[in-house]
Amino acid sequence: MVSLAMTNKPMTLTALPATWFDGRSSRRHAVQLLVEAQTLVMQPLDSGMAVQHHALADLRLSEAWPDSAWPLDLPDGGRLWLDATTAAALAPKLPQRRAGLAQRLSASWAGAMACLVCLLALLVWFDRQGAGLAAEGLLGLMPRSVDHKVGELVEAKYGQFGFVASTLPMERQRRLRARFAEAAEQAAPGVAVKLDFLRESKKEAGFNAFALPHGGIVVFDGLAQSLSDDELMAVLGHELGHVVHRHGMQNVLRSFGLFSVAGVVLSDFSTVAATIAATLQGMRYGRDAEREADAYARRFIAQQSLPPQTLAAVWLKFKAEERRLGVSGIPDWLSTHPGTDERLATEQAGQR
Ligand SMILES: [Zn+2]
Repeated sequence: MVSLAMTNKPMTLTALPATWFDGRSSRRHAVQLLVEAQTLVMQPLDSGMAVQHHALADLRLSEAWPDSAWPLDLPDGGRLWLDATTAAALAPKLPQRRAGLAQRLSASWAGAMACLVCLLALLVWFDRQGAGLAAEGLLGLMPRSVDHKVGELVEAKYGQFGFVASTLPMERQRRLRARFAEAAEQAAPGVAVKLDFLRESKKEAGFNAFALPHGGIVVFDGLAQSLSDDELMAVLGHELGHVVHRHGMQNVLRSFGLFSVAGVVLSDFSTVAATIAATLQGMRYGRDAEREADAYARRFIAQQSLPPQTLAAVWLKFKAEERRLGVSGIPDWLSTHPGTDERLATEQAGQR
């Protein structure tokens, strides 16, 4: 029920401040609220605007968004925004919200709406900045904390992926960890890395290695057992290249784009990050990212004073593994462009 009084008589009782949108224009109006009997009296502070009366029974106070005001929907499509003090004073006078499932659904619906509003705001912003910002450009907007969140979420799923504890001798694990930590600190100071050894229970221990956005690098037993420590350092240099160039997050932005940025803006990106994490495992780096990581590995090898043919030796072992397993058995790490032959040719040409 709405009734508009045509007068604008001043109120003498203590009024609660609020902001009012009439639901027809984007203009905000400062108002004062009073409760008289079972009616909310809303008095706009702009002179000449009519006082409104709304039955309290018709009003519903929604959940506040994080660090935001409380929305109070009016039956005529308008909306009031209340600060915490006003909301606390009004809440006991308003109809009680239904608890339980309905409340939780309404809360998540509010969350979904908040997400949508942020997404729309971002779309407008990107449109004004000139459409088609590349993933590389967006990457600069994405705080490093997101890389960490995504990495941690993928890490938590290792068990589901069938990754089990490594059987590599502890002494070798310790030695490689210490050596890589020192080399990474030298090559990429300030970039956090963590080396883990695992076994792929379903794939002959796994002739494979990968890097996560937060610097978590995994080497599988199958690969570690086939390569020397020097050769493993070359592989780790390649994976470090993926971390330094944020190739994982580039993939994420290419696939999720604004959606993931919107999640970050909401500072509640756990749902978005979980979706990203669920699909990240199936993602492959593109040809350019692999070449960039190979180039990084070459510089890394030189910096560590390893023989320049170390990377070529790695590719030769991958080729042998490809032959042994056949096309269907090509390890994930390799099943992306450029192929092993091209990589081998690049390394051998570079050494001439
Ligand atoms: Zn790679």
